[in-house]
Amino acid sequence: MQTISITPSENKKQKPADDSLVFGRQFTDHMFIMDYEEGRGWYDPRVVPYQPLEMDPAAMIFHYGQTVFEGLKAYRTKQDTIQLFRPAENIKRLNRSNARMCIPTLDESMALEAIQTLVDIDRDWVPHKEGTSLYIRPFVIATEPYLGVSASKTYTFMIILSPVGAYYEAGINPVKIAVENEYIRAVKGGTGEAKTAGNYAGSMIAQENVAKKGYAQVLWLDGHERKYIEEVGSMNVFFKIGDKVVTPHLSGSILPGVTRKSVIQLLKDWGITVEERPILLSEILDAHKNGQLEEAFGSGTAAVISPMGELFYNDQSYVINHHTTGALSKRVYDTLTGIQYGTVDDPHNWIVDVPKK
Ligand SMILES: *Cc1c(COP(=O)(O)O)cnc(C)c1O
Repeated sequence: MQTISITPSENKKQKPADDSLVFGRQFTDHMFIMDYEEGRGWYDPRVVPYQPLEMDPAAMIFHYGQTVFEGLKAYRTKQDTIQLFRPAENIKRLNRSNARMCIPTLDESMALEAIQTLVDIDRDWVPHKEGTSLYIRPFVIATEPYLGVSASKTYTFMIILSPVGAYYEAGINPVKIAVENEYIRAVKGGTGEAKTAGNYAGSMIAQENVAKKGYAQVLWLDGHERKYIEEVGSMNVFFKIGDKVVTPHLSGSILPGVTRKSVIQLLKDWGITVEERPILLSEILDAHKNGQLEEAFGSGTAAVISPMGELFYNDQSYVINHHTTGALSKRVYDTLTGIQYGTVDDPHNWIVDVPKK
C-alpha cells in the first residue's frame, strides 16, 4: 500500500468552542488529497494543511457534475479515544457511487487509512461536549480540463473534516414533514442510489418550497407512479405500524443508508419484525386513520433518528404520536448514539478505532 505523506500545518487555527458549533461551516487544520490519472491509477496520498484548490475552469466537475461524496463521523469517548462508526460501509458505498458515475474505484483499506490518518492528526478537533462529533466528508471530483461529455481521465479524492454540534440541543424533537407532489428525487435507473451532487442540486427547490410553509423536510414519492414512499429529505424512513416496522426496500432509487442498515439490525436483534418492501403512501395514511401508525422517523448520519411529528398531504395534516418522540424511536436513538460514543455494548463490531500515531 502507498504511504501517506504528511505535511503538518504551521498556522493552527483557533478552534471554535463546543457550544458554538454549527454544521459544516468550520474546517480543521488539515485535509487529505490523492490524485488519479488514467494509466497510472491513484497516486500521491497526502495530508496537507487545509487550503483552497487551484483548478482549471474547464475541469469536468464544474460542467457535468461527475463527482461523489460520503458523510460519516468521528466520536470522542469518555476515555478520550476517538472512534468511527462502520466506516467500511461508507467506503464501500463510495465505491458503488464511483462505479455508477464512471469514476475509478478506490482501494478500500487505503481509504480507511486515509480517514484514520487525517482524523488522528486533527484529533484535538473532535469536540468534547455530549452529542458533538467531527463530521468527515470524503469526496471525489473529475478534474480533466475538457468540455466533451465523457468520463474524465483525471480525478482528485479528498477528505475534509468539520466539527459539528449536537443535532438535538434540547433533546430529540419531532419535525413536520410535507409530502412532495410536484418534484421527484430519483427514478430507478437514475442516480438516486449514488451519493452524487446532482441528486441534491435537483432536490433543493422542493426543500425551499416546503420550508416557506413551515415544514422541515419533504417526503419523497417514487418517480414512476408517485404512490410509493421513498425517503424523507436526505434520510431513509421508517414507520411503526402496530407491532411491526416497515421501511421502503432498496428499489434502485433510494440511497442505501448506513444508519438505515444499522436500525434494521437493531430492530431484528430486539425481536421486532421489520419489513423492507414497497410502501404505498395510502397505506401509511390508512394506518394513521385506523390508529395503527404509532411512530415514524427518518434515519441518517447527521441526526441519527429524526422523529416525524406530523405529515402534511393534500391540504391535510396527520399528527403522529401527538408530536412526541415514540418509545421505539427513542430506544433506537439511544442505542445507536450509545454505540457511537462507546457507552453501549457493540455486539456487531461496528466501531473502528482511530489509533494515535
Ligand atoms: C446520506 C443519505 C442518507 C443517509 O445515509 P447514512 O449512511 O445513514 O447517513 C439517506 N438518504 C440520502 C438521500 C442520503 O444522501
